[in-house]
Amino acid sequence: MKLCKHCGDDIVDRSSTAEYCCSTCQQEASFEKYRKLNPGKGNLSPGIAGGRNELKACTDLIEKGYEIFRNVCQCGSCDLIALKKGRLLKVEVASGTLSENGNINCSMHDPDNYDIIAAVTHDKICYKNGEGNEIELREVNESLKGGRIEK
Ligand SMILES: [Zn+2]
Repeated sequence: MKLCKHCGDDIVDRSSTAEYCCSTCQQEASFEKYRKLNPGKGNLSPGIAGGRNELKACTDLIEKGYEIFRNVCQCGSCDLIALKKGRLLKVEVASGTLSENGNINCSMHDPDNYDIIAAVTHDKICYKNGEGNEIELREVNESLKGGRIEK
């Protein structure tokens, strides 16, 4: 007899590939994985979490050698401006969600408003371009034309 990976009950009336006894167990197991991958996510109100994420992105970018300018208004076309060697990058900060395959997902924003998105999780930050592809900031400096002041 096969047992449900969530509650341990017998799995009846299911194909041999079923891992859970019912859709509720499957859903709860999936939420548990999500919470394990993203501890604390959802504990803060969106406004507080957004401010915290912006500060995390600021810290990371400062450590990468950028000067950071923060939008002093709550609403604006992007959250931060990052300056390095005379080149400006418009940065949008988003709440990131770590998935099982190790990718960090975030909601997409209007790519006309930023050069890169900083997707922030509880302990990681990844940067994505307007197409949503993960990038290294080194690449950004080499490839982006927008905002470039000097070669
Ligand atoms: Zn179950």
